[in-house]
This record gives sequence, C-alpha cells and structure tokens, in this order.
Amino acid sequence: MTTTITTVAAVREQVAAARVAGRRVALVPTMGALHEGHLALVAHAREVADVVVVSVFVNPMQFGPKDDFTRYPRDLDGDRGLLAEAGADVLFAPEATELLPDGRTQVRVTAGQIGDTLEGRVRPGHFDGVLTIVLKLLHVVGPDVVVFGQKDAQQVFLVRRMIRDLDVPVGLEVVQTIREDDGLARSSRNRYLDAGARRLARLVPAALDAAESAADRDADAMTAAAQSALAGEDGVVLDYLAVVDPATFRPVDDGYRGRALVLVAARVGGTRLIDNRFVHLG
Ligand code: AMP
Repeated sequence: MTTTITTVAAVREQVAAARVAGRRVALVPTMGALHEGHLALVAHAREVADVVVVSVFVNPMQFGPKDDFTRYPRDLDGDRGLLAEAGADVLFAPEATELLPDGRTQVRVTAGQIGDTLEGRVRPGHFDGVLTIVLKLLHVVGPDVVVFGQKDAQQVFLVRRMIRDLDVPVGLEVVQTIREDDGLARSSRNRYLDAGARRLARLVPAALDAAESAADRDADAMTAAAQSALAGEDGVVLDYLAVVDPATFRPVDDGYRGRALVLVAARVGGTRLIDNRFVHLG
C-alpha cells in the first residue's frame, strides 16, 4: 500500500519511525506524470532500500519564464495508482505552499560553472532551482539513498557535485534510461507530442546512433554525423549536441580518447527533448 503524505512534518515522522525500526530509506524525486522511466527508479530503490519514498513536486524554481511550468502535465491520481502497483511505500506530494511558502527560496544553491552550460545555457537558473529543491527534499525526507535517472545526465552530474561539495549525507544511485520501442527516451513531455512530432522524435536517439557510429574518429566527426541525422527535417530544431568528458562535463579536447558522453537537446514540434549516451571515443 502506498501512503500519500502532503506535509513536511508527516513525512519526517514516517521516516523517523522507519529509522527507529532499522529500515533503510530511499527517496525518488520526481515531478509526477509518472511513466516507465520513473517506475524503473522505484524498482531500483526497492532493491537498495526497505522503504521507498517518491516525491511528486512540480518545482517552480527550475522553470524559466519561457518554460512550460503551468502547462507541465499533472496527474496525481494516475501517479498514485502507478506507485501502488510499483510497490512504493510513500507518495510525498506537498502543495507548492508547503515547500515554498514564499513562492521561492531567498537562499539558494548555485550549481556553478557546469550549471551554466548546455541545459543551463538554454534554461538560465534551471539547475540552481533543481539543486535547491533537491537539497530541500533531502533535508525534509532524510533518506539513506536518493535515486536519479541517467536520462538527465547533467542533473546527475550536478547532484553528485552538490552531495560532494556540501557533504550531504546520502548515497546516490543512478538508473539507466528507459526507452520506447523505437528508442525514444520516456519523458513526461512526450505527452505533448502529436502523431507527426512523435514520429520525428525518433530522430533524437537516431542522432545519438549517428554520433556513436563516428566515435572511432573524433568528437567533431561525431557532432557532424549527429547534425546530419537531424538536418533537413522541418519540425526538428537542434538546441545543442555536445561530447563531454563524463568526469568534468567539459567538452572533450581534440585527440581525447576513452569514455565520453554524447548529449543532445532538440525541439520537436515545439517540445524540448533531451537524451544522452555513453560512447567509447577513439
Ligand atoms: P522528472 O519527473 O522528469 O523530473 O524525472 C524524475 C526522475 O526520473 C529523474 O531522476 C529523471 O532522470 C528520471 N527519469 C525521467 N525519465 C526517465 C527515463 N526515461 N528513464 C529513466 N529515468 C528517467
């Protein structure tokens, strides 16, 4: 059975009781409109902990003025059903006023230089908003372990950085991306795609295929290959394609050899989609 909790005091009490009973607690932070990707995180959380808390909170601090905050899909009843099936113990779904009584926090986490690149360049302040709320959720819930998806690779990098830089006492678990049959990464935003855009969305993972097929050459060849996979398609606009060193999240230098991460962001029929893949360069 999944218990729904909406207040900070009640979730703290629940977790404290679990702790007293010697149980290990995992937190899976989400923005709801749950799909198979989120459920894979819940399944992993169940493997590494005894009590699984899933938060559903559409965080206003991570949306810019031009982003889709008001339009972002919300389906708490649907989420509750999926979480019960998936065996989550607690659904923590606070109202915005419970976590953010002033609308936003005055004091914030700054994501630093990497927070201003790639997703952060297209969405200024996005990662400061993400990290601030993730840190708040970690303080509120106090889990032993927190679970994130590799789908949001830059977010994972920055959460790991925050945990290290600020000595946050939590373990980080990362789950690989869950995809549709044609390779499209599952995303709450896929609900925005009409039939035509949905067909075109396949080009996002196809750009990663193209990049990977040029990985025996160099990063420039990978970028060119990915760009040409998307070129000429009306309705697909590339935001960025980058090949980074996973350890630093900086673009790889000429002549880099070894494990690299290819990141892509594109707008398909007006919907922004992101994806990434580890490749071996050289
Ligand atoms: P969101 O609700 O989009 O903020 O995502 C909540 C968590 O689910 C984040 O850690 C995401 O990286 C993860 N997630 C989203 N989509 C997927 C997916 N297709 N596969 C695995 N994890 C995902």
